[in-house]
This record gives sequence, structure tokens and C-alpha cells, in this order.
Amino acid sequence: MKRRLFLGLALASALATPARAEAKFEAFIQSLWPQVKAAGFSRALFDAAFKGITEADPVVIKLADNQPEFKSTTSEYLDKTVTPARIAQGKAKLDEDGALLSAISAKYGVDKRALLGIWGIESNYGHEMGSMSVMRSLATLIYYGNKKQYAREQLIAAFTILKRGIRSPDNFIGSWAGALGHTQFIPTTYLASAADWDGDGKKDIWGSKADALASTAHYLSQSGWKADRPWGWEVKLPDGFDRGLIGRAHWKTVAEWERAGVKPAIGDQFSAPAAKAFVMIPQGIDGPVFLITQNFLALLAYNYSHGYALAVAMLGDRIAGGPKVQAAWPAQNVDLTFKERVEMQDRLTNAGFDTSGADGRFGAKTYEAVLAYQKKMGMALDGFPSRKVLERLRGAK
Ligand code: CA
Repeated sequence: MKRRLFLGLALASALATPARAEAKFEAFIQSLWPQVKAAGFSRALFDAAFKGITEADPVVIKLADNQPEFKSTTSEYLDKTVTPARIAQGKAKLDEDGALLSAISAKYGVDKRALLGIWGIESNYGHEMGSMSVMRSLATLIYYGNKKQYAREQLIAAFTILKRGIRSPDNFIGSWAGALGHTQFIPTTYLASAADWDGDGKKDIWGSKADALASTAHYLSQSGWKADRPWGWEVKLPDGFDRGLIGRAHWKTVAEWERAGVKPAIGDQFSAPAAKAFVMIPQGIDGPVFLITQNFLALLAYNYSHGYALAVAMLGDRIAGGPKVQAAWPAQNVDLTFKERVEMQDRLTNAGFDTSGADGRFGAKTYEAVLAYQKKMGMALDGFPSRKVLERLRGAK
């Protein structure tokens, strides 16, 4: 009897909940109107933009906490993204669209390999641009979760895109995070950087790969890409190299690094001796080491994940016939719980050694922060985020 009653209640609640949730979400959408109105948009556009949207998108909620480039190690992320299939498709695109890519590259001064790398990773060269309602995704992100401010800014930009008539409200689609078109621009980036390459009067990053690739080149150029240097090189450090020089606090010209004994992993000469660069260790001192120019930072402007930027760089190079990463990736055998990893990043950041967030994942910036901390404390410079370092940080409080 009790059991039956319980089931009955559970059923009643299951039937009632979606309707209540719908009413709540619809009321929430209406609560956005004052902000949209204040930004200068009409009620008619507001109603058209949210027409038929009655529920938050559960897929958005799930994905918002699970961005792959922030969860896996750099090497795992590279394995998943720079695949043989994607390299092969990229080579086919380079054949097919070589003239277009060269023309865009010449106008904006941005390497076409970087454009191919972004195009491949963001949408599999236009095959996976996202098919979710942008307005529903952004409303869901404002309603739930930890990206409210981001989503509010993007929502206003999204209204501008609708107002310009680039896409109709019922065809305004993108990723769960509201990223748009072939190279997955977020709405604010669209407004700041989109370009009309094919000259039809529309900056159509969904329907025109030429517009999308030119927009991407424009954005990278605005983010500091320089035509006279690559994104960087994998390198070999000499024996006895001063580990205190690792990290973006230490920019030197490539020629100076050469004089300090740094060599390319392949070949014997760097292509841009006058360019400034720093030494990056994305998975610790025992793994692959890179000399990084400001062009890599332009890739980080696209998506602030060092694994992402390295994947774009490597994919582009591989498409153009370049080598894979030469050094072996070390396992990340860190004897810390997830909570302790976050604690370590928090403590490093509070001590003035920026780890660029505390997500429990140890990427290039965490290794750099550990090295800089070890240097300051007179510890051995192994750059390893170990329990010993955590305990030192705790003791220093
Ligand atoms: Ca166009």
C-alpha cells in the first residue's frame, strides 16, 4: 500500500514537473525582456527570437560542465583531436580550397595552416557546425550554471545578429555554448571580427566557408598574429639548461635561445631568429618542450586552453606535411586528489603564480607556476606539482 502510494505520488510528480518547469522557464525568458529592451531591440524581435522555446535545454546543462579540452591532459586531448582522419580531410581541403586559403592568408597575414587547424577542430571542416537553437542555449546558460555573465553578453550580441537579418530566428543555430558557423565564433566575436569575403553583402559564417575562414583570419590578426613567424617549434633543451627560464615570464629572441643551446626537435635551424619566444612545457619537464611565439597566444585568444591551441597548431602543421610531436608524453602521475589539485592551483594563484583558473587540470600554466614557485622558494626546479609543493604552499600560509 505504501509502495503503491509512493508510486502514485511519483507518477503525479513526474507528470506535473515538466509543466511547472516549462512555466518557470517561460517566465524566466520574459524576465530577460527589460535587459533586451534597454539594449535597443524591439518586442517583435524578442518574441520572434524566443518563439516556441518553452524549456531549458538539458544537453546544454550537461555539456556546460564538461568541456573536453579542460578535462583531459594535453596529450589525451591531442590524441582525440589531431586524428589521422582529420589530417587526411584537412589535406583534401588544402587541395580543394588552396587558392582561397592562400588569398585569405595573403590579405590578413595569417598562416593558412592555422586556419585549417581551427576549421578542422571547431567543426570538422564545416561538417559539425552545431544544430542547437542559439537563443535556447544562451537562455539556458543564463538560467543555469556558471556561465551567466558570458551568456548575458552573448545574448545581446545574438540579438544584434538577428536584427541584421544574417539568420532568421528559426534558423539561428550553433553549439551548446552559442558558437556559430564553420569556425564557431561566439556572437561577440562575430560582431567584432566577421568578414564578407565573397562580397554578397552578408557576413555569412554558416553558409559561406570563404566568409568563415576570412573572419577567422581577421580575428587572429586582431589577436596579434604576425605573418613573419610560425606559432612555435618543438625543441630540445641542452643538458644543464636553466629551468628557471621556462615559462612566459621569459621572452627572448629565437637567436638568443639558440645561443643558450636550444635546438629544434627536427632539423637544425629555426625559421625566424628575430622573433621573440618563450619555453613552454605543456605536460611537465619530462615531456615535449616548445618554443612559443605570440602567434600561439593569438590561438589562445580563440579558446584559452593550451591543449586546444597546441591541437590547432599541430593539426595545421600535420596537414601541411609537418611532423608529429617527437618527444614522448609522460604520464601525469600526480599523487594528489582532485580536491588537492584545485587547492594547489588556488594556493599558487593566491601566492602570485597564476595557474589561469583552478580546474584541477594541470596544463602549461600550472607547470610554469610550480617552477616559478620552486625558484622563489629555493626548491629543486623539477616543475612537478607534487605533494611536497602543496605542503610547502600550505606551510607558507
Ligand atoms: Ca558573404
